Amino acid sequence: MPKYDVVIIGGGVVGTSVFHRISRYGVSVALVEQAPDVCEGASKANSGIIHTGFDAKPDTLEAKLLQESRDLWPDLIESLRIPYLPCGAVMVATEEEHWETISTKIIPTARENGIEPVLLTAGEVKERVPCVNPDIRGGLLIEGESLVDPFWATRAFAELAAANGGDVYLSAEVVGIDEHPDHLTVRCAGGLILEAAWVVNAAGLWADEVARMVGDDSFTLTPRKGQFVLTEDELGLTSILLPVPTETSKGILVTPVVFGGTLLGPTAEDQTDKMDRSTTAEGLRRVIAETAKLVPATARVSSIRQFAGVRAVCSTGDYVIRPSSVCPRLVHAAGIRSTGVSASPGIAAEVERVLKDLGALDRPKTAVQTRLPDRFTSEADNGEIVCLCRSITRHEIELVLDKEPVPSTLDGIKRRTGAMLGECQGNLCAPAIMEMISKARNIPVEHVCKHAAGSNLIAGTIAAKTPPTGLRVQEGGGPKHV
Ligand SMILES: Cc1cc2nc3c(=O)[nH]c(=O)nc-3n(C[C@H](O)[C@H](O)[C@H](O)COP(=O)(O)OP(=O)(O)OC[C@H]3O[C@@H](n4cnc5c(N)ncnc54)[C@H](O)[C@@H]3O)c2cc1C
Repeated sequence: MPKYDVVIIGGGVVGTSVFHRISRYGVSVALVEQAPDVCEGASKANSGIIHTGFDAKPDTLEAKLLQESRDLWPDLIESLRIPYLPCGAVMVATEEEHWETISTKIIPTARENGIEPVLLTAGEVKERVPCVNPDIRGGLLIEGESLVDPFWATRAFAELAAANGGDVYLSAEVVGIDEHPDHLTVRCAGGLILEAAWVVNAAGLWADEVARMVGDDSFTLTPRKGQFVLTEDELGLTSILLPVPTETSKGILVTPVVFGGTLLGPTAEDQTDKMDRSTTAEGLRRVIAETAKLVPATARVSSIRQFAGVRAVCSTGDYVIRPSSVCPRLVHAAGIRSTGVSASPGIAAEVERVLKDLGALDRPKTAVQTRLPDRFTSEADNGEIVCLCRSITRHEIELVLDKEPVPSTLDGIKRRTGAMLGECQGNLCAPAIMEMISKARNIPVEHVCKHAAGSNLIAGTIAAKTPPTGLRVQEGGGPKHV
């Protein structure tokens, strides 16, 4: 049975950020993720905004950790080479009464959180963001709001932690936690059992279920879906555009995407099924209708993809980062609803403080790798392009195929290289990439999945047939109509 000082359950941005931070100590650490790759939960389906926390409820743990993260991000962006866009955000007043919300709620809250937003006239907003609705009343500039690539951040946290000796177990669903006097055992589906002195519960939407494995029912999480529309149409968007928020949601935004395109959304729909990431015609219509109030051109965009993410709404109304009250060897990093990407560095720092207080991190490491090398500059690249939309070469894909955490799915390659993120969404290059995965993993090509188990794109092979009457075979080609 593999033994660790710390085992982290959940390979989202929160779990991997904790993994990255803890791997700097002289303790043995492992990350356990039920999906075939990291970044398969909420961390893959969000707006990618690093929120300053200007609108966070003051004096909450969320507000505190968002503030701490503001100081931690610059170094992480540099050392992990995370794609980053410091574009600022403009909250747009489309109705006269929005001024009241902005002046009585938004600005005072922002100041309490240490942010000084700037009021803009309608003319100033239009000058800054020419595509904005010409009928707006004005806006509020929040300069520090910025964007990152959340896939990159999550994968890079895990990759650096692995480079520093952390172990990653993928496709390993934790199904039980057993308590012993001086350790816990973490049982996974399929028979894997890990022994851990300390366990961090970063299971996202399922963190309440992990807590219940030790009899802790101190919080519950309910799913709130957000639907998105992604377009590559040129809108001329230069900043994130936010509506004036409602009680339940930050509203439906128009957001540039770090790696290209514009993201419209998300909706905020409470539901009961944690697994339901479906999109609906009604939801997508709402996204278009609401974003068109900010940027009229969104009413006519063509979409290259629609998708949904699911937030974890916590019964406590705040982050839950503390040892379990019934099992102190289990430390929760849970209840991270709408700001987990932004606050992930601060959350990891808070978990580190909790583990230190418990005496779990008393051995600092002597030599740790603190930077990820730039793997995309290589003399060996002969320039053979596989992904035409994003000009990604075969060599770039080959370089990520053996890096921990090792990708085995099409989406894993997409999030590491940018291949299949462009306009054709993999229609042209997916077959070639599937063959590369098949060769690298030594599995039949029909076993290669898009993301989760069961998402195979190839159902099987069919034998070549004699062409039916009316078709003739041309030399060197397939059957052609005559
Ligand atoms: C629509 C939407 C928009 C958002 N926009 C933003 C934004 O702009 N900026 C921002 O900062 N935040 C945003 N967020 C919030 C952010 O995405 C989340 O807070 C963050 O991704 C949560 O990270 P996590 O690691 O806690 O959860 P997840 O990413 O869900 O990771 C949890 C992981 O735990 C794994 N897991 C669960 N149970 C088990 C088990 N039993 N065994 C093993 N593994 C398990 C899951 O498979 C999953 O991979 C948004 C969220 C949504 C849904």
